[in-house]
Amino acid sequence: MNDKILKTKHGEIELPLFMPVATRGFIKAMPWKKVNEMNIKVVISNSVHLSITPGLEKIKAKGGINGYTGFEGSYFTDSGGFQIIREELVDIDDEGIVFKDKKSGVQIKVTPEKSSEIQEIINSDVAMMLDDCPPYGSPKERYEISIERTYRWGKIFLQKRVPGQLRFSIFQGGYDYDLRKKSLDLMLSLPSDGIAIGGLKIGEPKEVTDKIVEYVVPLIPKDMPIYLMGVGDPLSIYEYSLKGIDIFDSTYPTRNARHGYALTSKGPINLKASKYSMDFNPIESGCECEACRYYHRSGLRELLKSEDPQFQYLVTVHNITFMQKLMKTLRENVDMAKDMVKHYVKDPNTQIQG
Ligand SMILES: [Zn+2]
Repeated sequence: MNDKILKTKHGEIELPLFMPVATRGFIKAMPWKKVNEMNIKVVISNSVHLSITPGLEKIKAKGGINGYTGFEGSYFTDSGGFQIIREELVDIDDEGIVFKDKKSGVQIKVTPEKSSEIQEIINSDVAMMLDDCPPYGSPKERYEISIERTYRWGKIFLQKRVPGQLRFSIFQGGYDYDLRKKSLDLMLSLPSDGIAIGGLKIGEPKEVTDKIVEYVVPLIPKDMPIYLMGVGDPLSIYEYSLKGIDIFDSTYPTRNARHGYALTSKGPINLKASKYSMDFNPIESGCECEACRYYHRSGLRELLKSEDPQFQYLVTVHNITFMQKLMKTLRENVDMAKDMVKHYVKDPNTQIQG
């Protein structure tokens, strides 16, 4: 269903693509040996967080983030604008954004120049520009400021090309067709290797997200990869890939795994539930992941109850395997993909039930 291919310095990546989140360079509960064996080709990290922990000095000493961590695939790095703006924003003006890292308390001012420099040192495969993403419900004037700012920041960021690194632009414009078009046209006038639809899935009703996606996708050149940031639950991936989105990321599979939820084609199951205490089936029959090959639901439930760290590892492996299977099925057979997601809920922001 998708002929676009993303070519990074680590190889060719088929689209649509789902990226597990590795905020500080590592996927939680997952050793790289396993990630590499599972053929996970791309993860996304946050460049602002990486610049604080482990810090640019250490990453630079190892020639970039792959050298520092041992991951053999491609890194996307976010500029921070989307992922942390709501929780860690201290201040924003025409020059840039001041973030505060919640863990360390460290404050950092990120300008487009600084974001370019940080992501160059990190040496990621794909660097996202710094954008100005107003909160949902902002007045029209605020969106107009954001469009101008994002354009100016993009101009600085996207024109600083780094060999071997792709650079993606982001457009804004809130929920108004004219403003969306204005921002998109401005951003398309700049050189970029892909584009992200910014300012969506930040609290607006699903119908609004859908309308904007349906309006903007046909306006984007056919060969340009389109990224919907922060979206990655199974049902949304299915729906938005049909609407033309190519790239997704979310903590959904990994975070839910750590909280006891395993993803199956019959919907998510909560392994804490007592109904699994005598259930000797694997999480999903037919799944060939390590958790399904060697463990049954009853055993996994005991590991969870005793807070054994193996549990997080095993269910993370399973959930990422499920997402990989979903993406492969989406590329090969849309009807079968529909079957895999039909038991999932519409609103991924509420914790899944099983
Ligand atoms: Zn499995």
